[in-house]
Amino acid sequence: DTPLDVLDPEVHAAIGAELARQRTTLEMIASENFAPLAVMAAQGSVLTNKYAEGYPGRRYYGGCEHVDVVERLAIDRVRELFGAEAANVQPHSGAQANAAAMSALLEPGDTILGLDLAHGGHLTHGMRINFSGRLYDVVSYHVRASDHLVDMDEVERLAREHRPKLIIAGWSAYPRQLDFAAFRRIADEVGAYLMVDMAHFAGLVAAGLHPSPVPHAHVVTTTTHKTLGGPRGGVVLSTADLAKKINSAVFPGQQGGPLEHVVAAKAVAFKVAAGEAFRDRQRRTLEGARILADRLLAPDAVAAGVRVLTGGTDVHLVLVDLRDSELDGKQAEDRLHAAGITVNRNAVPFDPRPPMVTSGLRIGTPALATRGFAAADFREVADVIAAALTPGADLTFLRGRVEALAGKHPLYGGLR
Ligand code: PLP
Repeated sequence: DTPLDVLDPEVHAAIGAELARQRTTLEMIASENFAPLAVMAAQGSVLTNKYAEGYPGRRYYGGCEHVDVVERLAIDRVRELFGAEAANVQPHSGAQANAAAMSALLEPGDTILGLDLAHGGHLTHGMRINFSGRLYDVVSYHVRASDHLVDMDEVERLAREHRPKLIIAGWSAYPRQLDFAAFRRIADEVGAYLMVDMAHFAGLVAAGLHPSPVPHAHVVTTTTHKTLGGPRGGVVLSTADLAKKINSAVFPGQQGGPLEHVVAAKAVAFKVAAGEAFRDRQRRTLEGARILADRLLAPDAVAAGVRVLTGGTDVHLVLVDLRDSELDGKQAEDRLHAAGITVNRNAVPFDPRPPMVTSGLRIGTPALATRGFAAADFREVADVIAAALTPGADLTFLRGRVEALAGKHPLYGGLR
């Protein structure tokens, strides 16, 4: 029972330093968030000790009566939250949720149609050296060069030409909503399954602030740690007729024992996501992203060569195109880092620079909304970002403005 700081001072010190980093900087990586203390309490609980291969009521290990309660709560809550017929809450991550869903629906060698990674898709939607690119025959759709919106005419043309068995709608870097009904129409026409990967925008869907893919898709996958604000993990939602296939694809197909401590944390997060405070947070998330996009469309930013892809946003992130700027993605990321704002550089569609450099930034608002940021705070942070991306910026002065914002919205007051 030796405390962590005594047993392992090196790990303890690194965790403490990370807490200080999260408190004193502004987190604007679009896929990150701050899990509530109650979620972390569940995740740091004795459930980590329990083996529970199988599903509630049908386990391969004894002593599962309490983890069964937890997993049933998680399943019931996530089904209710999204209006889904069936749910599997065991995937260890979003990538594993996608791997399981795809292995349930496909045989190796089958054709899949997904958004190109370079145009905002995810690795698991068919990247060459990912499992999805190695196991399946990949056809990719794109955004249009003219407006950077997903080209549904291309989706339809490729679907007719290649007759995929699975069409994937979803993204890691895209600032607009997809037309799920149109995807389903195309899938039905060619006899494909439709899978929507809502990892990024699931929190917005839960709050009723983004159209739900659930009525349109055969399968919906998500992570639980992005806009949804829970522990790191994945979920597969499906229609009732696919539930058995998906369950056996997750276990024993892809995974062994479920992480019941994480499943418990997911259950807590789903409870939080059904509440009014969560809806308010998602509203502020969207408002913050719109404020940021508007600020980066102002004349001083435009003069610095800053462009906002698609001219704005409908979701929790803004994609910044720096192809006309004197900064590349790496330099812009470093400048914001020096000012105390954490973002990630991101390739823009048709990017002339290599992936380690890129010509863009992906900037998200979920974590700051969780921290309590409202419109005035988002206006201030947007102004700091615009200034940092302008030549001659005084990064030390900007860092002071960031520290003032961080101080105004303390994080994890109960932690030491
Ligand atoms: N799907 C999408 C759309 C994502 O953006 C991500 C993560 O970035 C994932 C899946 C994978 O999630 P994880 O990192 O939990 O494997």
